[in-house]
Amino acid sequence: MGRIVAIANQKGGVGKTTTAVNLAASLAIAEQRVLLVDLDPQGNATSGLGHPHRRVERGTYQMLVGDATLDAIVLETDLDGLSVAPSSPDLAAAALELVDEETRFTRLRDGLRPFADRWDWILIDCPPSLGLLTINALTAADAVLVPLQCEYYALEGLSDLTGTIQRIKSGLNAGLELDGVLLTMWDPRSNLNREVADEVRRHFHVYETTIPRNVRLAEAPSHGKPVILYDASSRGSHGYLNLAREILDAAEAA
Ligand code: ATP
Ligand code: MG
Repeated sequence: MGRIVAIANQKGGVGKTTTAVNLAASLAIAEQRVLLVDLDPQGNATSGLGHPHRRVERGTYQMLVGDATLDAIVLETDLDGLSVAPSSPDLAAAALELVDEETRFTRLRDGLRPFADRWDWILIDCPPSLGLLTINALTAADAVLVPLQCEYYALEGLSDLTGTIQRIKSGLNAGLELDGVLLTMWDPRSNLNREVADEVRRHFHVYETTIPRNVRLAEAPSHGKPVILYDASSRGSHGYLNLAREILDAAEAA
């Protein structure tokens, strides 16, 4: 069974998708078999891996509502070993459509489970909310990775997220754990960044690797590529390669 990691933070624009795409690519470079599940109707992870999401005909929406199985929606990418379960714009309607279904929280878990041994890692890119899609991701996941931008209010948002994780742990998914907080767009010269980071470290496991602010990370998606295929020598690329190494080492040690 592959390890399923939800990349979640209900705050928008903190680097969830950038992390999902580039951690997935870096794990694939390390010869892991990786599936990235795009659970955001914005479809940025799908486009960022070279599949314009408006052209996706079958995606995670079809899987959640039961119109397609996972293997029928998975697409390959330019990187060997990295596949994507794409999102399409109609995913936004899933929450409404499933509202009366008793199984609405476990749809993703049930859809992934029969195929999970095809991959070593399944990363789930969550939308910026704690709604049904994110609950599906947290119910399916073994662990949560929380990208965090060290600004004022960052911690407040974290307590909403950890509250949701606690509720899911005591109900739908007892095995769920918060793997760690990833400091993104990190600027070591910023006092505010350092103060917030110190505070986060008092409460949570924070990955040793930090992801610097790096324009290459922001440019790569417009070329439909992870940064490693766009500018492998950039600081952003090194950041995510280091993160993959850290996560692989921790998994080996466990
Ligand atoms: P949303 O909540 O909308 O899904 P998100 O949390 O997935 O957003 P991203 O889309 O990954 O966040 O990042 C937000 C913006 O910041 C994007 O334009 C992205 O290219 C840029 N960005 C992310 N990480 C970095 C970084 N380390 N350096 C520079 N730019 C970054
Ligand atoms: Mg995103």
